[in-house]
Amino acid sequence: MRWYTRGADEADDPAAYHICGKGIPVTPEGIKERLQRKHRILENGCHEWTGYGLKSRRTDAAPRGLIVINGKRHRVHRLAWEIYRGPIPNGLWVLHKCDNGLCINPDHLYLGNHAQNMEDVVRRRRSPKIKLTEDQVRMIRASSLSSRALAKEFGVKKSSILCVRNGKTHRFVI
Ligand SMILES: [Zn+2]
Repeated sequence: MRWYTRGADEADDPAAYHICGKGIPVTPEGIKERLQRKHRILENGCHEWTGYGLKSRRTDAAPRGLIVINGKRHRVHRLAWEIYRGPIPNGLWVLHKCDNGLCINPDHLYLGNHAQNMEDVVRRRRSPKIKLTEDQVRMIRASSLSSRALAKEFGVKKSSILCVRNGKTHRFVI
């Protein structure tokens, strides 16, 4: 794995290998422990990362869950793939079936190529999901009002309501 090299250095100076300076050894076991401790399980089965993360500068992009290993940031869903599934072949991306960028459930991840990744990005961009609360999503699904009326009610675009209604967004809300 790209972040893990068991070598002479490690034996000589174990402190040289750490995550975020917290003394957790950089081994597959150490990373696995960290992944298991730092997530919450959502109703849809997502294992949502609760540790360190960054919001992307692009407002439509999902926040990034990160683990800093020896001063370098690593995306947690990629680490999860490597821990639970194995190495990521060159040129492939670890993508989310569930559209939750913070999810590290290996069952919700898949390997895709650049084109598939761009499709995912475009799909998310079309469906701004941050503006509605989960309760509002449930109300929209249950409502018999027109999408236009609901859009007015909740202060979002009609397309956002349509995306909720046809399941393009908010699939994680049950
Ligand atoms: Zn998920």
